Amino acid sequence: MDLKYVQTTCPYCGTGCSFNLVVKDGKVVGTAPYHRSPVNEGKVCPKGTYAHEFINSPDRLTKPLIKKDGKFVEASWEEAIKLIADKFKSYKPDECAVLSSARVSNEENYAMMKFARGVLKTRHIDHCARLCHASTVAGLANIFGSGAMTNSIPDIAESKCVFVIGSNTFENHPLIGRQIMKAKSNGAKVVYVDPRKTPTGKQADLFLQFYSGTDVCLLNGMMQEIIKNGWENKEFIEKRCNGFDELKKEVMKDDYSLENVSSVTGVPVDDIKTAAEWFSKSGASTILYSMGITQHTTGVDNVKSVGNIQMLTGNLGRPGTGVNALRGQNNVQGACDMGALPVVFTGYQKVIDEAAHKKFADAWKFPDGIAEGKNGYEVTVMMDVLTDKPGELKCMYIMGENPMISDPDLTHVEHALKSLEFLVVQDIFMNETGVLADVVLPSCCYAEKDGTQTSTERRVQMWRKAQDPPGEAKLDWVIISEIAKAMGYGEQFAWKSAEEIFTEMAALTPSYAGMDYVRLNRPEALHWPCPTKEHPGTPILHIEKFGMPDGKGLMTAIPFKYQQERPDAEYPILLTTGRCIWHWHTGTMTRRSESLEREEPTGWIEMHPEDAKALGVKNNEMVKAISRRGEITIKARITDTIKKGVMFIPFHFVECAANMLTINALDPIAKIPESKACAIKVEKI
Ligand code: SF4
Repeated sequence: MDLKYVQTTCPYCGTGCSFNLVVKDGKVVGTAPYHRSPVNEGKVCPKGTYAHEFINSPDRLTKPLIKKDGKFVEASWEEAIKLIADKFKSYKPDECAVLSSARVSNEENYAMMKFARGVLKTRHIDHCARLCHASTVAGLANIFGSGAMTNSIPDIAESKCVFVIGSNTFENHPLIGRQIMKAKSNGAKVVYVDPRKTPTGKQADLFLQFYSGTDVCLLNGMMQEIIKNGWENKEFIEKRCNGFDELKKEVMKDDYSLENVSSVTGVPVDDIKTAAEWFSKSGASTILYSMGITQHTTGVDNVKSVGNIQMLTGNLGRPGTGVNALRGQNNVQGACDMGALPVVFTGYQKVIDEAAHKKFADAWKFPDGIAEGKNGYEVTVMMDVLTDKPGELKCMYIMGENPMISDPDLTHVEHALKSLEFLVVQDIFMNETGVLADVVLPSCCYAEKDGTQTSTERRVQMWRKAQDPPGEAKLDWVIISEIAKAMGYGEQFAWKSAEEIFTEMAALTPSYAGMDYVRLNRPEALHWPCPTKEHPGTPILHIEKFGMPDGKGLMTAIPFKYQQERPDAEYPILLTTGRCIWHWHTGTMTRRSESLEREEPTGWIEMHPEDAKALGVKNNEMVKAISRRGEITIKARITDTIKKGVMFIPFHFVECAANMLTINALDPIAKIPESKACAIKVEKI
């Protein structure tokens, strides 16, 4: 028997835990602890424990599939690549759109970005960061000059007050939850703000159960209390920030008196006061947030408000502080860093910047140039263009994404994707989006490839190949390169390894310039920015100055606005959506993991006992949940951990898909949808 252990990085959430894959006779059969990672120190959550179970699922795609007469038939790679290359060549540049992926490696995102801009010459490239942290990227870049988590994961244990808002950390980033408990055992206060008393809330010292979407109101109210009591950090504001007067003028308005904030948010006055005092007087307060903050039409405002209170209290640039945006998917940070966005090349170099555009065009040497230096469409806008402007977008190439479960208002998404002339989906499993495709290409999972991913804390870590892919499945970057070669661009895609791609990318990306596979091949890896080969990486951002032109953070007056769709007489319930500990995103991997699927085999709608009583619904009874966009049939779960008037559905489950109900209302800047708040009604069946 041949047995070996291959150290790798977890393919699920953005925490970036390391573990070993156990490989027996060439096949992955289990996971085992890897103790040297400073992030998880040998521990993993249930998803990490069972991260081997889907790898050799009989459902894996093993051959290219081409749709003929409405049915998929197996095809050779030669036939599939030729068909795709011929079709792609037949479209004008901006008739094509590309969705890259937070699930694949940095190298593969770079390859896809280069393919989109250099081969298809389209501006329209995006990925699912649009649905989770687009507001973080836009909001933090606007106030700090960098749109990423400011501190590192182990650093959270140094905090004296951990303020968690809109993040069920214990279920969705469990090994970050462990750092919260470390801080708590060191004497930190934990404040939890959410409509649900989740497992994270149960560990908190203070639980603020607010209405989804009232984040700005709550934070402005806390800031008014801080300023009234003189608890702001005057020295930090004076030396390191602009905009204090404007911020003060806004938050001191009567709208944000404790009584008014209490009435809007549903949080008792005394609890708001206590939170403001603990937060501003701890000496080192950190804010952790996730999609509860970002997935709103006010997502960018919410993010800037989080930045405001941290600047007001001087909680930036030191251990135990910071604005810590917890990214949902393993490589969503990396996919953004690699320029899988419609406005930037790698390292957030703007496509509209002439010098950046010339730099990439010169380096890539496409004889017929690259996509013009104008911003493209975000994925949410692509869907609107497809339905509202017929013929403008005609073709789409989707790698490792499943918008038919993940995007808001699925009826709208289906209509949009069905209006395409040509759709290519590249994935490890047939998924709900793949069934709509013209061609489906089988790709490799994390256990079958070398490469890097960048976790939520900007730590760039390695995947290592543990087994061969099933059947004829190929690496994503190899597939992309083969299509490029068939379209006449072999010279630009002549890489022989992921490492060669990383080297090309790092040479074009200042924040990754000091990294290489030798330096990354160690337990602590490296945090970006890492501009030179001698640089140790940057676990904490903004220590001496912010990334703004004058080095100062920008405090911003943010008036509170309600969400787009509020409960009314017809649709009286506020729906919020999210995840659970057992499943991950659209369930393509975790629902093929027997142990995880056994734990939570289907979705549910969580409701307060008084709401259930008013509806005449008993626990586990099936109900209809209905919004203005669609309806689903789903099991009721009655619990007093959710706020009365609010209901919750996890979005993983196709048979009761939460996104049949959600609204495609977008933040005007980030174009992120308001997945966290819409109006529904519920009927007993
Ligand atoms: Fe994987 Fe996240 Fe669990 Fe760590 S916390 S094992 S990265 S799913």
